[in-house]
Amino acid sequence: MNKNLLKKYARLIVRVGANVQRGNRVIVWAATEQSDLVVEVVKDAYRCGAEHVAVEWTNDALTRLHYTHRMTDVMAEVPRWEKEKAKDMSERLPCRIFIESEDPDLLRGISQEKIRAVQTARVKALKPYRDAMENKHAWTIAAAPSKAWAKKIFPDLTPGQAVNKLWDAILKTVHVSADTDPVREWEAINETFRAKCDWLNKKSFAAMEYASSNGTNLFVGLIQGCQWAGGGEATLDGHFFNPNLPTEEIFTAPKAGAASGKLVSTKPLSYNGQLIENFSITFEGGKAVSWEAEKGKAMLDQLLTMDEGATMLGELALVSKQSPINQSGILFYNTLFDENASCHVALGSAYTNLYPGFEKLTRKELTERGLNDSLIHVDFMIGCDDLSITGICGDGTRVPVFRNGDWAPEMLAELQ
Ligand code: ZN
Ligand code: ZN
Repeated sequence: MNKNLLKKYARLIVRVGANVQRGNRVIVWAATEQSDLVVEVVKDAYRCGAEHVAVEWTNDALTRLHYTHRMTDVMAEVPRWEKEKAKDMSERLPCRIFIESEDPDLLRGISQEKIRAVQTARVKALKPYRDAMENKHAWTIAAAPSKAWAKKIFPDLTPGQAVNKLWDAILKTVHVSADTDPVREWEAINETFRAKCDWLNKKSFAAMEYASSNGTNLFVGLIQGCQWAGGGEATLDGHFFNPNLPTEEIFTAPKAGAASGKLVSTKPLSYNGQLIENFSITFEGGKAVSWEAEKGKAMLDQLLTMDEGATMLGELALVSKQSPINQSGILFYNTLFDENASCHVALGSAYTNLYPGFEKLTRKELTERGLNDSLIHVDFMIGCDDLSITGICGDGTRVPVFRNGDWAPEMLAELQ
């Protein structure tokens, strides 16, 4: 990897992703294989004035060894020191930087029940601390190729070639190149996001209708006042950051319990190392009432029966088919990328910060207002070449939002 590009990418992660400010504390999560990038990230965070930068190392081989040799209850245990650490983090509110590089097949062969039990127990034990930090700290997720991940995407290349090719693909999606200043690029990108979100928020649609020739036909109610967001966002005290690098989506929280019709997937869903392919879900009264899958049906059963909220929608996201990730034609086997290739929805919890005044409401009150709650949040893709999305206003007026898988020309004309 070219040192200059690596530095530019690190700068993007630190200055646009987490937007590290003087006096901030920073924690970086990354695999040991990414140490070159991590050193650059830490260096740049100090350059931005961070007072303390810590790194939490992970290692795929070790994770697999633990899953193989620890009993489920031991693996699921969250020791007191770990809770203390999470509590400390929820009080100090460091900027958090996650660098993803995990092998999508890392846990292949480990029992699904074990993975599920471990993840559920851990999420439950740490949820109070996570909730306490929500919307109070800046965080970002970016990616870097590992050999195993790159080989999964490009199986015919040597590991070295595959890693280089995945680096090229990743850097293209985040607009890092030899002759551009990515920090500048992202200012313009965030401006475009803002214009589209403003348009959607001003329309304040009561519902959306989805239709495409593959069988998707869904009516979904929206929550009055709930915002559309995309690109960068701000913490409650105004620290602007970009949670995902890359990002292409503009999203909102639909009203739980107000969806009816059918959604047909257009890309495989990689969940816990397994693929669910060519599936569809039918909703009635907001809940998934039946579903089919050509491949991975058992996994889909597991996902939809996780808890009550898992049967309902928690996100509607709009992504143009012109997105560079879609144009690359690569299936990344990683949600950070794959969800930005296409319009998608999520089953499970909604992003509560989309609701104005959310910070003064309890989770229960937010649920009563229609923001779905669940232990899971799993995206799947429904975008395709002829997808139409129509916004329906309170008085029944129909407004084109998407036509043929892209922003509707009428909508784009209004932005001019
Ligand atoms: Zn999304
Ligand atoms: Zn999502």
